[in-house]
Amino acid sequence: MTADWLVCANCAGRVSEGRCAVCRAELARLREERGPWAHLSSPAALVALLLTLAAVAFLVTRPA
Ligand SMILES: [Zn+2]
Repeated sequence: MTADWLVCANCAGRVSEGRCAVCRAELARLREERGPWAHLSSPAALVALLLTLAAVAFLVTRPA
């Protein structure tokens, strides 16, 4: 989710530029909305996910 394409009704500028209070409020709201997803896209979470997958793959494929 990105605010790049959103145009502010108050200042007619792009919301992503944060020109006025309405823009900044909208930016803050968007940031809060994507909160849970921001964690998923962080490098640390990706590394943890990869390690988990590797551990599962190791457990599944190791000889009995
Ligand atoms: Zn604005």
